[in-house]
Amino acid sequence: MTIKTKLYLGLGLLFTLIIIVATMSVFYINALKKDTKNILVANYNTLEYSRDMFISLDQLQQGLLTFESFEESLKKQKTNVTEPGEHEITESIAREIKLLKQEPQSTALTLLIRQEITQLMRINMNAIERKSTIANKTAESAILRISITATICLIVALVLLVNLPGNIANPIRKLTESIKEIANQNYKERVRFESSTEFDQLAKSFNTMAEKLEEYSESKMEKIIKGKKRIEALINNMQDPVIGLDEDKVVLFVNDEALKITGLKADKIIGHQIQEVALNNDLIRDLIREHNATSVEKKLNKTLKIYADSKESYFEKEIIDISITPTGESDLQFIGQVIMLKNITLFKELDVAKTNFIATVSHEFKTPLSSIQMSTVLLKNDKIGKLNEEQVHLIDSITDDSNRLLKITGELLNMTQLESGNMQITMTSNDPVKIIKAALDVIQIQAEQKNIKIETIFSANLPEVQADFEKTVWVFTNILSNAIRYSYENSTISISLQSNESEVLFSIQDYGQGILEQYQTKIFNRYFRVPGTKKEGTGLGLAISKEFIATQEGSITVKSELGSGSTFTVSLKKI
Ligand code: ADP
Repeated sequence: MTIKTKLYLGLGLLFTLIIIVATMSVFYINALKKDTKNILVANYNTLEYSRDMFISLDQLQQGLLTFESFEESLKKQKTNVTEPGEHEITESIAREIKLLKQEPQSTALTLLIRQEITQLMRINMNAIERKSTIANKTAESAILRISITATICLIVALVLLVNLPGNIANPIRKLTESIKEIANQNYKERVRFESSTEFDQLAKSFNTMAEKLEEYSESKMEKIIKGKKRIEALINNMQDPVIGLDEDKVVLFVNDEALKITGLKADKIIGHQIQEVALNNDLIRDLIREHNATSVEKKLNKTLKIYADSKESYFEKEIIDISITPTGESDLQFIGQVIMLKNITLFKELDVAKTNFIATVSHEFKTPLSSIQMSTVLLKNDKIGKLNEEQVHLIDSITDDSNRLLKITGELLNMTQLESGNMQITMTSNDPVKIIKAALDVIQIQAEQKNIKIETIFSANLPEVQADFEKTVWVFTNILSNAIRYSYENSTISISLQSNESEVLFSIQDYGQGILEQYQTKIFNRYFRVPGTKKEGTGLGLAISKEFIATQEGSITVKSELGSGSTFTVSLKKI
């Protein structure tokens, strides 16, 4: 039976019973009303008239009243004859009252009339008693029947109350629980209802859906497993060591390369906390130490030197945080990290070879270049022989080129020293003005050639700075030389020296072409030159300067605007 039919039947039955109870109540109340009315109209009124007749008779005898009052009551009684024998008595009273009119003093007649009125009253009293019994019976039967119907009604209502909500709510609850199971990816969940209601249809549709989901999830699972295997194979075949961690730092996967360099067996690391593994493994401990570092420190790619497979290898470590946005959510959720060690041994070897090569070549260039320069000086000397104008011009050009070559070899040598870590720094106390003057001496001729005026603004009582004199002079020579090269002819370069609480600030301002903002940090990178720069150069000068200044715990910055010029500021610690 369907829920709808159940509801119709239950509520319909209840409704019918209520109507029956109501109809019965109305019927019995009407019956009782009729009974009472019957007594009132038929008998009670006769009693009233009889009593009036008695009173009229008494007053007649006392000569207080005429016959009219008696006859009026008798007339009313005539119209209210209801009981058997009542008519005869009433007629008899009428006859006798006529006789009494003729003989008003007749006591025998009066007595007879009294007796007849009394009889009339008795007949009606008996009728009232009889009818009252009937009314009582009607009332008792009404109470009984209404009670029975009301009890049936109550039982039906109770049965409905107990069964109907459960009948509707239980399947819904069962269905809700099953839907929750499906939401929790338990696609094996099915629903079954005992009775065949429309919930059966719902259960069938639900089960079909669950079946399809199960099928889909199984095929999806197969795909996921395949995908996982593919990624595992890929990670295992990678040349670089890879370690994957979950959000609690438990190792999820380690590829063969990582096992090789750590010397660990897979079962000794996979599924274990990385900190736990680090207790017995130096390399993992190294990784963990970095792993706990701040995000800024993490970004600094540190080169690790690892001895594995009977050789020294170099690795660059990268830690990648893995975050996902779970389905239906909007916030990113951190789910773990991947530690990648990029094998840079080959690059390192090539880099060392390149550094060695450049160092050797620049060193080898230095001696012949110096002797070329010496020869040009000698050639220009009149004692050796007078040169014509064209020869002087050629010699000047040779001097310029050898100077440029010497500058380049000098920069390359400095670079190789920095790269190989062979840089020798001798820190002494130095007068900042002396440093600037030494650099000015070197670029004097270069400035004169472009007719550039150099202004100096030095604050009084400048403190001495801690610096390597040679290297710092080299830095300012490079910055000043750049300022001249990238300035227009006949312009000015301003050098200012100021001090604050802890350092001396050297500012070199030119009014040349300036540098676009996007290149202002890049110009300190090795071999970087602003695209489109027409002047000759290696792109090494500022990179070397930055490293020289950094090793002296100072800093170098630039402020520039395209078309207006640039200001390079070097700060060195004061003594
Ligand atoms: P180089 O001058 O040998 O190219 P540097 O490292 O000294 O190498 O300079 C890098 C680049 O920065 C230059 O190529 C040039 O484009 C830019 N640069 C440096 N100084 C200035 C300056 N004062 N004005 C404009 N551009 C400059």
